[in-house]
Amino acid sequence: MTDLTRLRAAELATAITSGEVSSVEATQAHLDRIAAVEGDIHAFLHVNGEAALAAAADVDRRRAAGEQLSELAGVPVAVKDVLTTKDQPTTSGSRILEGWVPPYDSTVVERLRANDLVLLGKTNMDEFAMGSSTEHSAYGPTHNPWSTDRIPGGSGGGSAAAVAAFEAPLATGSDTGGSIRQPAAVTGTVGVKPTYGGVSRWGAIALASSLDQIGPVARNVLDTALIHDVIKGHDPKDSTSLTTEWPSFADAARLGRAGGRLKGLRVGVLKELNREGFQAGVRQRFAEVVELLTAEGAEVTEVSAPHFDYAVAAYYLILPAEASSNLARFDGVRYGLRAFAEGEQPDVENMMAATREAGFGDEVKRRIILGTYALSAGYYDQFYGKAQKVRTLIQRDFEAAFNQVDVLISPTAPTTAYKLGEKLDDPLAMYLGDITTIPANLAGIPALSQPIGLAPEDGLPVGLQTFAPAFEDARLYEFGAALEALLEQRWGGQLIEQAPALPQAAAAEGGAR
Ligand code: GLN
Repeated sequence: MTDLTRLRAAELATAITSGEVSSVEATQAHLDRIAAVEGDIHAFLHVNGEAALAAAADVDRRRAAGEQLSELAGVPVAVKDVLTTKDQPTTSGSRILEGWVPPYDSTVVERLRANDLVLLGKTNMDEFAMGSSTEHSAYGPTHNPWSTDRIPGGSGGGSAAAVAAFEAPLATGSDTGGSIRQPAAVTGTVGVKPTYGGVSRWGAIALASSLDQIGPVARNVLDTALIHDVIKGHDPKDSTSLTTEWPSFADAARLGRAGGRLKGLRVGVLKELNREGFQAGVRQRFAEVVELLTAEGAEVTEVSAPHFDYAVAAYYLILPAEASSNLARFDGVRYGLRAFAEGEQPDVENMMAATREAGFGDEVKRRIILGTYALSAGYYDQFYGKAQKVRTLIQRDFEAAFNQVDVLISPTAPTTAYKLGEKLDDPLAMYLGDITTIPANLAGIPALSQPIGLAPEDGLPVGLQTFAPAFEDARLYEFGAALEALLEQRWGGQLIEQAPALPQAAAAEGGAR
């Protein structure tokens, strides 16, 4: 029998719908895979096999009874630990929430369940989604399936690695400054940051509320679209949720797959995001995509967005400011950890200070200090106010660019996956790696990352990022799927199938394939 973990979600869904494969079989195959590779990868913080198999059995039973089920019914999914789940712990990668089981499901999880996707478990992440490597998780890092001594990206390294290591066909992430797209890029998978407000944030543990967006992760563009279709749409419980009637993203991806409309498409190459300092192999693969698009009849031009030079600085003021406020709720009173400093009066102030001291990691403390400083009286205008003005200028840069072109492209990240530990003690170096992804969050627009090949110098995946105007998420799926079809012709299949670390991981299964 084919290894069910190697199928794309769309293929698995078809096999389940036709009765060729049961959801229990599909779920068990992924649980086996998790058991075999987690020792090397550590993509999950929590796996609930029993609950997953029970949900799968329920789908199989209802299907056998003739019930009409959704397209992805019975397909397993991994959920980033930033989303609350009522039957599974939710920690956001932090010690302060260790063992906390929320009393409710986030809207996204509710929708996954309502569509009968099978929740495998919760994926690892940088603490409170702060970071680009998953090394800031309080529970230890995740390893990149392409090379286990490398970072899987962050903050959503767990979701990306789970999908890349065939532990789950689908996953969800959150993207505040790139946490879906950059992990996708460095693991050879696909990730989308939807238009701000396009997917409900209700029940997502807030990092920076004006930037946060929940989105899909998968191994190809169509699968990403399919799960986006499940989680998208208005939610009255989220005050920033858009009331937009979204088109079918899966239809857009299928249109792209069938040839798409690359001919005559106006594609802008962002000058500021294709720099000298970027890794040579990243620039090389990017240049090849530009050539390929030109050969297909796209009109590729260079576009400048001059204020992107200030994006990292503005983001790392706005994010800490909002985060310091959002994280004030973790005080030992409401949920999770409660600690007291020894030898001091056991009063509430002692308790709050000791809880936060023990519960938060270094990166979180660093950003809380930065954020409270930036918001303090006398500095507010100087820092936070200025950063907000820069944000407006970046939005205008995008507006001007989209007056000239239909989509904008750049490498998703300046480098391929670096070594674990390489940037851990140099926060600034890690922040600078976010230059490519941050502008989309500051402007609220959608962006997609997809694999475009391996960098010749290290054999690691390179991602392409495509931006579209707000509300035009469907354009990303059509374009992404069209490009993906062209690249797969060249590669003779999906890039992820060539991951060198995976045969080793498969050996751990006892050669069961
Ligand atoms: N790497 C960025 C940061 O550290 C992005 C985080 C995110 O998108 N959650 O803030």
